[in-house]
Amino acid sequence: CGIVGYIGHRDAYPIIIKGLQRLEYRGYDSAGVALFDGDDIHLAKTKGKVDDLKKKSESTISLMGKLGIGHTRWATHGAPNDINSHPHYSNSGELVIIHNGIIENYDSIKTELTKRGYVFHSDTDTEVLVNLIEEVKKKENVKLGKAVQIALNQVVGAYAIAVFDRQKPDEIVVAKLGSPLAIGIGENEYFIASDASPFIEFTSNAIYLEDEEMAIIRVGKEIKLRKIKDDSIA
Ligand code: GLU
Repeated sequence: CGIVGYIGHRDAYPIIIKGLQRLEYRGYDSAGVALFDGDDIHLAKTKGKVDDLKKKSESTISLMGKLGIGHTRWATHGAPNDINSHPHYSNSGELVIIHNGIIENYDSIKTELTKRGYVFHSDTDTEVLVNLIEEVKKKENVKLGKAVQIALNQVVGAYAIAVFDRQKPDEIVVAKLGSPLAIGIGENEYFIASDASPFIEFTSNAIYLEDEEMAIIRVGKEIKLRKIKDDSIA
């Protein structure tokens, strides 16, 4: 399973697809990609190989977008099928997430969110997490970074995640506990991946998140690194 992301001045799609191919060695059963062109989110996902995803994307969605996230899934909650593949939208369609790992207490969170009117389209623990982030963001009236932090403090499990918000075309938020997550730093561009192989041709400047660390990544800005358990985040 693997994670790739890009935000900057290039088209994200080729970087994401090539990156996912480089992470194939990690093993997976499904793959998906979400691209954001500032107006619309273009999402394709499928059970099968990255090559199947490539064919599906290239025949069904616009490949525009300087922001993109891609995922290879190794199913833990929910069968390997198109719907359970990542990325997953939140209920409002505003947030998009990819996740490697397991949210162990997803069931109780899901029950809580269902009571508050949330509807789940997949059987994954991941869709529960993205809706928890959405609920926190609305209820606490906070920005994405803070919402991710508060949500992760309610979660038991392991994760490497990347999330973006339709309201924020220049930002990706990432976090890690257990699963690996590297950030490649370029000139006015950032790369995200499970290991450095997807971005090694673009930059040799990389940081590896520690466990319980998160980063708010914005084009043209320094990366903001935060401890998930530290409550001082703005
Ligand atoms: N637990 C998530 C799922 O089953 C993520 C699995 C993974 O690490 O790829 O969808």
